[in-house]
Amino acid sequence: MHFSIKTDAKTNRAYMSAAVKSRELINNPFVNKGTAFTPQERDELDLHGLLPPAVSTIEQQLARNYNNFRAKPNNLEKYVFLNSLQDRNETLFFRFVLEHLEEMLPLVYTPTVGEACQRFSHIYRRARGLYIDYNQGSRIEKILRDFCDTPPSIIVVTDGERILGLGDQGVGGMGIPIGKLCLYTLCAGISPYDTLPVMLDVGTDNAERLADPLYLGLRHKRIRGEAYQDFIDLFVAAVKKVYSEALLQWEDFLKGNALRQLARFRDQLCTFNDDIQGTAAVVVAGLYASTRITNQSLREQRMLLAGAGAAAQGIADLFAAALQKEGLTLKEARGQIWTFDSKGLVTRDRRDLEDFKATYARDPGEVSNYDCKNQMRLTLPEVIRNARPTILLGTSGTRGAFSEEVIRVMAKVNARPIIFPLSNPTSLSECTAEDAIRWSEGRAIVATGSPFLPVEFNGRRYRIGQGNNAYIFPGVGLGATAGGVRRITDGMFMDAAKALAAKVTENDLRECAVYPELTRIRECSHAVACAVIKRAAAEGHADASMLTNLEARVERSMWFPDYLPVRYEM
Ligand code: NAD
Repeated sequence: MHFSIKTDAKTNRAYMSAAVKSRELINNPFVNKGTAFTPQERDELDLHGLLPPAVSTIEQQLARNYNNFRAKPNNLEKYVFLNSLQDRNETLFFRFVLEHLEEMLPLVYTPTVGEACQRFSHIYRRARGLYIDYNQGSRIEKILRDFCDTPPSIIVVTDGERILGLGDQGVGGMGIPIGKLCLYTLCAGISPYDTLPVMLDVGTDNAERLADPLYLGLRHKRIRGEAYQDFIDLFVAAVKKVYSEALLQWEDFLKGNALRQLARFRDQLCTFNDDIQGTAAVVVAGLYASTRITNQSLREQRMLLAGAGAAAQGIADLFAAALQKEGLTLKEARGQIWTFDSKGLVTRDRRDLEDFKATYARDPGEVSNYDCKNQMRLTLPEVIRNARPTILLGTSGTRGAFSEEVIRVMAKVNARPIIFPLSNPTSLSECTAEDAIRWSEGRAIVATGSPFLPVEFNGRRYRIGQGNNAYIFPGVGLGATAGGVRRITDGMFMDAAKALAAKVTENDLRECAVYPELTRIRECSHAVACAVIKRAAAEGHADASMLTNLEARVERSMWFPDYLPVRYEM
């Protein structure tokens, strides 16, 4: 913020120099309380005349806003309303969203955020976070230095190229870091003063955006290759220098870039990629919980991934690691995983297989009736008949990929098939939760990527657990910040998955839900954070002293949106 306002995340207080004008104060969302400024504050801060006379409680403000919110005709309008509230008053915004968490999460994040990214240049009101475009390469350090009074503890960065399942949205991808950081605050109590969304604009290959006269990003095709990597390197070098203690999260990069940046920087600073590692942990947590319904061990599970991209890679690797923990060798563990992409089953006879696909590629000899000349003919149901997977995961970004036949075959080869159509947004889900339950005669254990309403089938109610990364990444961030964690490792994600699975209650399982109710998400983040710190200390990435009073320490570091006294700095 630019008004000499200093914020202290530890005491959660805002201090202001006397130079701050009252008008600027009520325009600053971090300290603004709107009509809730007390009579004493109105005297001391010279706010008289700038506000109507009645003083509201936060409850009255929440009620007023909820009435206005309900009057908005569609989800995009509701999203714009929430953005404006956040721009006016951060505390009230977070309190408002927390009070109605289940209703609001699909608005501040997927699916509505996807539509907001697509419409970004049309609904744009006010900048939030940092926009660093390719032409600013030499100035990145200064831009970072000038932006914050106090260094952020969590940065989420995107280049907008693979936004949810919606592809390249260019500068519009900024909606994702903003939304993700909102989730850090809501789900794990990371103070909004400590978060920084960043958009790295290197152009877009989205023809519709380039042709749009209102488009707000760089109006040229994406910079690629060495020039792109040099720009990313400049950004990371500046982050390391200016915000050396911050956690850097990569978000919605194209698969190749996502994997490259993670491999390049994971040992250089505290960093992770949620699309790969966070997804893997939340899915593996759901699988641990599913086996409590099927009464089988994890080592008995065979997984088929429909969609062999970044999400699939993270899931396959973490699942293989989990199987190894159950006593399998790496070769045996990988032998229980099948991948299927837009060309069909991934087999070793394919040419030019990238590393990940090659790792999990199957021997064509193990597939009956396999037509080597024409792999396209091997359909998903045929692969299921051959491989007899107990788990079918959808990470294909393809609506309808789980047809009635697919679900029926899964239900034929399993008493309780585990079926997670994970693609986002809702419109791209491989099937609906209701379809999976109906076509499997109520036997499928279903979790989805996007939220689905409970399903009634044959007199039974199925609550649909959402394999939402928000169960994992905010807790990882909380652990990293509260525990002074220096590096993020795959082991931490494994322990995070177990900690989340342990939060699934018998009552959840009776409803056939393999994730806890969203209303318990802060409790889940707390457990994930503690698990991350414990693992970090064991691996030498955090000081052992962090384990003293661990649970209370993490609890204390969680921010809750409440008004604090506002006063001038002495
Ligand atoms: P990606 O682009 O890296 O990979 C997509 C993969 O799907 C590619 O391998 C492609 O070949 C394959 N594919 C395309 N059409 C297919 C078809 N008809 N059948 C089978 N495979 C097909 O994308 P990603 O990052 O892996 O994400 C994929 C999807 O998973 C997205 O929709 C994303 O929103 C979703 N996702 C969900 C969660 C979650 O629910 N927690 C987390 C991460 C990603």
